Amino acid sequence: MALKVNPDIREVMDYMDIQTWIKYDKLCEEGILDRDIIEPPVVKFSRAMENVYGTCQRRITFHEYDGAKDVIYIQTAVITYNLVHIEQNLYKPEFWEKLDETISHEVSHLVMEHFRYYTLNAIDKAFRGHGPKWKEAMQFLGIASPRVTVNNPDFAKDMMAFAYKCPTCKQEQYVYKKPPKDKVYVCPICKEMGVRSYISRELVHRVR
Ligand SMILES: [Zn+2]
Ligand SMILES: [Zn+2]
Repeated sequence: MALKVNPDIREVMDYMDIQTWIKYDKLCEEGILDRDIIEPPVVKFSRAMENVYGTCQRRITFHEYDGAKDVIYIQTAVITYNLVHIEQNLYKPEFWEKLDETISHEVSHLVMEHFRYYTLNAIDKAFRGHGPKWKEAMQFLGIASPRVTVNNPDFAKDMMAFAYKCPTCKQEQYVYKKPPKDKVYVCPICKEMGVRSYISRELVHRVR
């Protein structure tokens, strides 16, 4: 992997990689996941995820056989974990406890809520993504009361790796990233007072 990390972080990444597979395997053994249809997820890490712990992106391939009404499919998935979150929180006591829940949360997304999932609208999908089958998988993995949210406001600020000092109000603000090329931020503090202070890319610098 091309990402540069310190040995402690590497250890966490290896743990998450293997635990993702172990949890996948447990769900298969229990019959919650079907090994013939759902392939073991590929695990990735990213520093560009803002304030989510992880994501589970699935791809489904349909095969139709001549004359058969049945449609079978193969599901592949990529689970991506937030490397900035790991780096910022590794030495906090609650880190490992939450880590296990994060891994279970993403692995549980491998369950198919329903074929109809892909025809549902966005709001339904969000619900279906954490529907009864997802909950069942979470509970089987030992998370008694699964929480739907993977955004944790407590960690949000820690994950803002950039900051700028507004030239007008002189207040420091934390942000997730530099503004895109040819774009600027507008200082929210000045804006509240009816002043538009533009923050160019050059004013935004990495703080961690
Ligand atoms: Zn989720
Ligand atoms: Zn300002």
